[in-house]
Amino acid sequence: MSDETPICSAKGCRTAAIWVLAWNNPKLHTPERRKTWLACEEHREHLSQFLGVRGFLKDVVTLDEWERDRGGSAADG
Ligand SMILES: [Zn+2]
Repeated sequence: MSDETPICSAKGCRTAAIWVLAWNNPKLHTPERRKTWLACEEHREHLSQFLGVRGFLKDVVTLDEWERDRGGSAADG
C-alpha cells in the first residue's frame, strides 16, 4: 500500500479524490489512450461537464473500481 492519497484534480482543491474521470482528446491521443482526472464528490460534476462539452469524457468510475480494474494507481500526469 502507498501512503500517497490521491487528491482531486480541480484547481485549488485538496480534497481526497473519490472519482476517476477517464478521458481522451482525439487531437492529441490515440483512441485507446486514457488520461485521468481525479475528483472529489464536490467536483465530479464540474470536471465531467468540462470534459463532456468538449467530447473528451469516456468514463466516470469510482477510484476503488478504477484501481481494481487497472490493478494500479490512477495517477497519470
Ligand atoms: Zn475537489
